[in-house]
Amino acid sequence: MVGSLNDESSSFYTWHDRRLSKHVLDNVHGNIYLDPLSMKFVDTEQFQRLRDLKQLGLVHLVYPGAVHSRFEHSLGVYWLAGVAINTIKACHGAELEIDHSDIQAVKLAGLLHDIGHGPFSHLFEHKFLPQVLNGSQWSHEDMSIKMIDYIVDEHNIEIDSENLKRVKEMILASDASHKSTKEKQFLYDIVANGRNGIDVDKFDYITRDSRACGLGCNFQFKGLMETMRVMGDEICYQSKDYLTIHKLFTARADLHRIVYNHAKVKAIDLMVVDALLEANTCLRISSSIQQPEDYWKLDDSIMKTILTDPQQELKEARDLILRIRRRDIYQFCNEMSIPKHKLEHFKDITPQDIVCSQKAGGTLNAEDVAVCNDKIDLTHGRNNPLERIKFFKDYDCHEKFLIRDESISQMLPAVNQDMIVKVYSKKPELVKVVSDAFQNFQRKMFGMNAQVHATP
Ligand SMILES: [Zn+2]
Repeated sequence: MVGSLNDESSSFYTWHDRRLSKHVLDNVHGNIYLDPLSMKFVDTEQFQRLRDLKQLGLVHLVYPGAVHSRFEHSLGVYWLAGVAINTIKACHGAELEIDHSDIQAVKLAGLLHDIGHGPFSHLFEHKFLPQVLNGSQWSHEDMSIKMIDYIVDEHNIEIDSENLKRVKEMILASDASHKSTKEKQFLYDIVANGRNGIDVDKFDYITRDSRACGLGCNFQFKGLMETMRVMGDEICYQSKDYLTIHKLFTARADLHRIVYNHAKVKAIDLMVVDALLEANTCLRISSSIQQPEDYWKLDDSIMKTILTDPQQELKEARDLILRIRRRDIYQFCNEMSIPKHKLEHFKDITPQDIVCSQKAGGTLNAEDVAVCNDKIDLTHGRNNPLERIKFFKDYDCHEKFLIRDESISQMLPAVNQDMIVKVYSKKPELVKVVSDAFQNFQRKMFGMNAQVHATP
């Protein structure tokens, strides 16, 4: 059972607050109370669009329960952001001078942090767009900022412009290049923590995604939320929570390995990217990503549009979606983990690399092969993210310090990153040829057969 935060919330949310708020019953956190200003954002067609974006893109085609949306995740992050800032305020009394506008900004940042996501989330941003944008940069965080300004204008929401600016800075705070030297810097660690990666966004999605997929989750955020404390200008944790925080990062890595990068999920991802590329010109998909007034109309229903729009130009794209519906998906051939000593200078493996490894006289084409290069880490490359976290011993101590992992345990990994390469055949009849070529490639590249699984 996931810990409900409603015991704590009762002390933060007075009867008066609740009278002005609306509540929804969330299946992870229990009752979530939405304050009047947040409701103005929620009750817009732009925010409601998040109901039509699945939190995990195409994962539900493999884990049928994973149909939860960005809408419920956003409400969850809003709620946890509110609990976090109120806990800090309660712990420190008046010392940190946390006022109503600070609380409002942190909560709104939680509510709106994902409003710029596109269809199928990361696939759209990292796999589809780079192939059609010719080098120009686009990120869902920047789109979230544009979308927030658009919602405020379009719906005449009255909000202090300085505070709105802080909301936007908090959303961008996960990007180290947006470093700010603002006062109350700790406020920027709550929703999207660029300093050390511990934030309520992860608390919510790790818990929510595990639950939706039917997996257990051995990371519990509740204890961390209760004991965190601000020292200097940053949020610090009790040293006895070291391994709990380690679990936060490993639970996230496990979700990447088991769920987000599941071999069949990736096969379907590859097909949808191919379908979006085929349909892009006809449906003008990528031309809507600059303007919020066009962008909010784009969501996961694009897949249904491709499937049912009878235009001849969409035939190739439609056939791919039909193949997904009929479970004729790209065939997984095998996978390998890149050896430790090759990780540093690893260059992504391409379909061409596999094709070049086929037997002399083979007729395999790069278009028949797909390759996924999936990096799985603890958010900090090959390093341990806990190296960046400040700890304290007890509430009586006023010293904050870093902890080296060997002071806690000798059983923690020395390398914190995996690179898993998966190879697919786009046509079922080529599985054997592609699999053989992949094995030749491994022998050529690494001097051994690195795969350990049987070829399906
Ligand atoms: Zn999020």
